[in-house]
Amino acid sequence: MATNLTMPQIKKSILIVGAGPGGYVTAIKAAQMGAKVSLIEADKVGGTCLNVGCIPTKALIHVSSTFSAIKEQSAKLGITVSGMDVDWAKAQQYKGSIVKTLVGGVEGLLKANGVAVYRGRGIVKDAHTIQVGSKTLTADCIILAVGSEPVRIPIPGADLPGVIDSTGTLALTEIPKSFVIIGGGVIGIEFASLFASLGTKCTIVEALPRILPPIDAEITRMVRADLEARGIAILTDARVESIEQAGASYTVHMNYQGQAQTVEGEKVLMCVGRRAMTQGIGLEEAGIVLNCGKVVTDDHFQTNVPGIYAIGDCNGKLMLAHAASAQGIAAVNHIMTGRDSYHAETVPSCIYLEPEVASVGRKEEELQEQGIAYRCGTFSLSGNGKALIEAGGKGMIKILADAKYGQILGVHIYGPRATDLIAAAAIAIRLEATVDEFTSTVWAHPTVGEALGEAAEAVFGNSIHWPPKKK
Ligand code: NAD
Repeated sequence: MATNLTMPQIKKSILIVGAGPGGYVTAIKAAQMGAKVSLIEADKVGGTCLNVGCIPTKALIHVSSTFSAIKEQSAKLGITVSGMDVDWAKAQQYKGSIVKTLVGGVEGLLKANGVAVYRGRGIVKDAHTIQVGSKTLTADCIILAVGSEPVRIPIPGADLPGVIDSTGTLALTEIPKSFVIIGGGVIGIEFASLFASLGTKCTIVEALPRILPPIDAEITRMVRADLEARGIAILTDARVESIEQAGASYTVHMNYQGQAQTVEGEKVLMCVGRRAMTQGIGLEEAGIVLNCGKVVTDDHFQTNVPGIYAIGDCNGKLMLAHAASAQGIAAVNHIMTGRDSYHAETVPSCIYLEPEVASVGRKEEELQEQGIAYRCGTFSLSGNGKALIEAGGKGMIKILADAKYGQILGVHIYGPRATDLIAAAAIAIRLEATVDEFTSTVWAHPTVGEALGEAAEAVFGNSIHWPPKKK
């Protein structure tokens, strides 16, 4: 549902706790819709995403992928490079300058929209009241956007000084020579790719039989093969049991496919998930129902206490910055107009590797499990000119469509600029577009995007730039 500034001004007041991408976006949207908004933040505005998450990570990934692109491709492209190196201190400065610019931008936007920002930890007192230090703030509604923090597995050695989380990794003052990464989820795989490009010997240790469980299995296999080809060791079915310090390095002990095994690293990154930061802020006392620490909400993101909403990582539905923002806007729409505006099926997942991974909608495994009749079209990016020029033709696009009407149900991309291309697929899913509508759209040439049209062609027929399937 679209919202705009011409909407009747409804006099509502809203208290928002947490100024990450969930809370600050929600605050701006609520102010634009005429609410009196107070935003409470204990630390810096921008939350995990801007300060110690998405943005600093992507800034360093930009450094590492630029470095590896020059290193790997310069000879082939006829570019002479000598004495190439990474000045990590400068890379860190670059990261810091991007973060500073964006945090300053958010502060400016909050001010320009008339949002009152209170510094301190917000404690919920009742359905209309938040305590911040000595101040008592009241409003018609409360939106909790308190985010999450990294989890540590309770094993011997988990608290050793060289065992760090994603925040510690972003603050490293030197590039480690070797890194053991516990957890083959999004954080583990992104950091392994980043540091491998800078020359670090990375070993990923994942308890499950595969890395990146939320991603399409076929793409995961391709990602794994490419990471291994870049020298990253990946141990799956490997459950870490303890860590011990051995001089300047650390030994990680694990059960690897039923056998005891060890792996050494100068640093150990523990990235085994995140938990909602819901403790000690008065939620249980206010009667709000939690499930394993996550705030339970309905489809409007309203808790069991009328007027109190919870959006983003703290409700545990989907720990993604853009999902938090979208949920916050939906909560505000519900408060201000009573209408819905969240379309969970359009929330993309993006992983910043070389090349990138992005997906939206249903996975093939889900459709199979749910017995939904579907057709699948795939297109290898080795058949796409732009992908060949820029990334050696690595990757593929997969489109899943309803078997009868051709409605697009899921799109999965592994290739250059996948994280930008996925926007077209998300809109297609939002508009319930069919394969026919996708193929009859004209895609610019030469672009990686035209491979989306080719993958759609493959759903019911043949792609133009791929030989026909043998009958
Ligand atoms: P995750 O849940 O995605 O992955 C953690 C992995 O650790 C799992 O695969 C799990 O099986 C494994 N694990 C758990 N215990 C283990 C053990 N004892 N030994 C070995 N492996 C073990 O968690 P994450 O990677 O920490 O990410 C946290 C959240 O942040 C996720 O929700 C993720 O989507 C989000 N995030 C998203 C992005 C992005 O969108 N690009 C980037 C970073 C983080």
